[in-house]
Amino acid sequence: MKHALVTGVTGQDGAYLSQLLLEKGYEVYGLLRRSASADVVDSRLRWLGIAGQVRVIDGDILDLASVLRIMRDVKPDEVYNLGAQSFVKTSWNQPLLTGQVTALGVGVMLEAVRLENPECRFYQASSSEMYGLIQEPVQSEKTPFYPRSPYAVAKLYGHWMTVNYRESFGMHASSGILFNHESPLRGIEFVTRKVTDGAARIKLGLATELRMGNLDAKRDWGHARDYVKAMHLMLQQETADDYVVATGRTTSIRDMCSIAFRHVGLNYEDYIKIDPTYLRPAEVDVLHGNPAKAMTKLGWKAETTLEEMISEMVEADLARHRAGLASA
Ligand code: NDP
Ligand code: GDP
Repeated sequence: MKHALVTGVTGQDGAYLSQLLLEKGYEVYGLLRRSASADVVDSRLRWLGIAGQVRVIDGDILDLASVLRIMRDVKPDEVYNLGAQSFVKTSWNQPLLTGQVTALGVGVMLEAVRLENPECRFYQASSSEMYGLIQEPVQSEKTPFYPRSPYAVAKLYGHWMTVNYRESFGMHASSGILFNHESPLRGIEFVTRKVTDGAARIKLGLATELRMGNLDAKRDWGHARDYVKAMHLMLQQETADDYVVATGRTTSIRDMCSIAFRHVGLNYEDYIKIDPTYLRPAEVDVLHGNPAKAMTKLGWKAETTLEEMISEMVEADLARHRAGLASA
């Protein structure tokens, strides 16, 4: 039985990836940072019905000693480094913390693998945000990066450290440049989930408006359940490499709002108000990925359309509110 260690196991991708690995017969270990709110941290794993099956271990990607201990105890065959301060807007308010977790945290994980278990395969959660001020209309593995937020700058460090450890030490370290991916388990602060939750609240009479920022930005959105399959496939290849994971379709925030509100029979224009609070110091106007390499080399492709995903998310938010549950 293969052992996998997942950092960021309590997040959206950590939950879906753990589910996939369990289905494939892995023993899944999740690195969990200590929280005073221990009763809610595994809510996503519980949502997927796998909380009891993931072996959670106390640790933090800022603490090399804890990660070395875990590497020694778990002896993983595969490490998936998903842990990060992952919200772009927060990265302007907490730039140094974002640098510590999202950049140096990758260095901690790579060092732990190198020192303790160099044969172990390593996945780094890189991001399309690294393209930032885009240098080509459609972004591939060859497109130059131009980060536009402290988050993106931090991700760039993690990306190049992964490439560097592969080239310097021959480690099987791969970097997945994933474009935005969403699901009913997406954090409520991200735009898709904010909109599907807002549409559900308004439909149920729990709210009368939704305040938002720049509706003209465009994103290439896929479903997290599809994207974690690409992470796993990368670590099954004979040699490590970097891959763009995207749908190849880009849609404006405005059109995504329209899809979500239409699902509940409403017109978004009647409810969305622009609020400068949600504008960013620097914007990433358009992201549009070219997944050709992942399709050819990994045999991967996005299976869920934006319309299907948004419908699933709105339905999940309607169900949460009807059940009187706080947004999970
Ligand atoms: P989430 O924000 O949902 O999850 C982030 C995870 O990181 C949480 O489990 C969080 O734990 C954990 N974490 C934060 N700080 C630490 C720390 N110091 N030590 C250990 N764990 C920590 O992100 P997603 O699941 O959406 O994304 C997974 C990864 O993929 C992230 O690295 C993200 O930046 C990256 N990514 C995501 C994309 C997307 O569209 N979703 C696109 C491209 C890249 P806790 O629950 O305790 O806060
Ligand atoms: P990001 O691509 O990782 O920053 O993911 P987000 O979901 O946070 O944001 C996607 C895009 O939506 C960005 O261009 C934001 O500026 C835009 N956006 C517009 N209004 C909002 C809002 O109210 N909240 C968030 N999170 N993003 C918004």
